[in-house]
Amino acid sequence: MKDIENVCLEVDELDFDNYSPISPDIVLTSSFKFKNFDHYVKVNAKEEFAYTYTRDGNPTLNLLETKLARLEKGEAAQMFASGMGAISASILTLAKAGDHIIIVNTVYGSSIKLIKQLSKFGIESTKIDVSDTLEIFDYVKNNTSIIYFESPSSQKFEMLDLELISKFSKDKGIFTIIDNTWSTPLLQNPLVHGIDVVIHSCSKYIGGHSDIVGGVVISSKKIIDEIVEFGQVLLGATMSPMNAWLALRGLRTLPVRLKSQQETLQQVINFLQEDPRIERIYHPLCNGEQQSELAHKYLKGYGSLLGVVLKDANPEIIKRFIDSLEHFTLAYSWGGFESLVMSVYKGNNINEIKERGLSLGQLRMYIGLEDNELLISDLKNALDQAYQ
Ligand SMILES: *Cc1c(COP(=O)(O)O)cnc(C)c1O
Repeated sequence: MKDIENVCLEVDELDFDNYSPISPDIVLTSSFKFKNFDHYVKVNAKEEFAYTYTRDGNPTLNLLETKLARLEKGEAAQMFASGMGAISASILTLAKAGDHIIIVNTVYGSSIKLIKQLSKFGIESTKIDVSDTLEIFDYVKNNTSIIYFESPSSQKFEMLDLELISKFSKDKGIFTIIDNTWSTPLLQNPLVHGIDVVIHSCSKYIGGHSDIVGGVVISSKKIIDEIVEFGQVLLGATMSPMNAWLALRGLRTLPVRLKSQQETLQQVINFLQEDPRIERIYHPLCNGEQQSELAHKYLKGYGSLLGVVLKDANPEIIKRFIDSLEHFTLAYSWGGFESLVMSVYKGNNINEIKERGLSLGQLRMYIGLEDNELLISDLKNALDQAYQ
């Protein structure tokens, strides 16, 4: 009985020489065997490389890291269990007590909350809203160590001049971190323009199917090594190899998804711009001449997440509009196959909306992979219902 039970417990040997799958293996393991004691000694002395434990590295995660680093034109990348895992690991690695962090414009809400929380570790921060990149430098202090931003930003999708930020910051020894989730590595490569660290939430376009939560940091080998040592191995927000595999699969269709969604986006914007019930659209294509110049300079294409403001909105109009939509789902997140809508107004947060410089009727809309005519007739119908 004991012998037969042990079959359940054997460490299996697979012959890796006799098969080559087109789709990569999901190396779903926490730990890896050493060949023998000598190997164990050499690997620990870093005389030889071997995978040892998935929190320290895993072949499926590594495959994804290599691809994302190449796409972002960076030297190295590190995956994380979520976008916030990537953001917190980067900031906690690069900042120390006594430092000051500048947050520019309307970045992702949880990123702002995280940086504000760091005051309990003696890291102060200033959240600023600028319309011109140069204004950022008025807020720099002697102890400013990080400028954290998005371009385009969340909610208003405002662009900043990446080269101005990187040039100024390099002169002062300030780290620059951009959350590049909106653009994906296909539409904008901030490292090429001198930004130090690029972060993506892989839960959005990269995964692309609304089925994973994940994140990545891409930078120089030197900075990634530091982030791995502290922010990954010690803070420990390790991505599951299963999710890395799903992200690898998502990446294969990222170029065609973006192309299709950009075409639909353009049609939807054309429709919304003509509709008198729409007060304004926030998107790099609609944010004015100066913004459009920055978009031309830095973007190779457009993401399909945008802000739309309903004219003279009140809670009743917002409710009727959202509940009348059939092909836009009311849900958090974005970047998947399906069109989504979310309103900044959540029923009892009017003060917060004002504080953030947003308007009551502001919606965040995500254009998915559905047919453009279907989406446009859905929007038209919902506007008719909302303003009946
Ligand atoms: C979703 C999102 C994040 C957070 O990513 P998670 O994977 O949900 O942790 C960060 N930044 C932006 C711009 C996002 O859209």
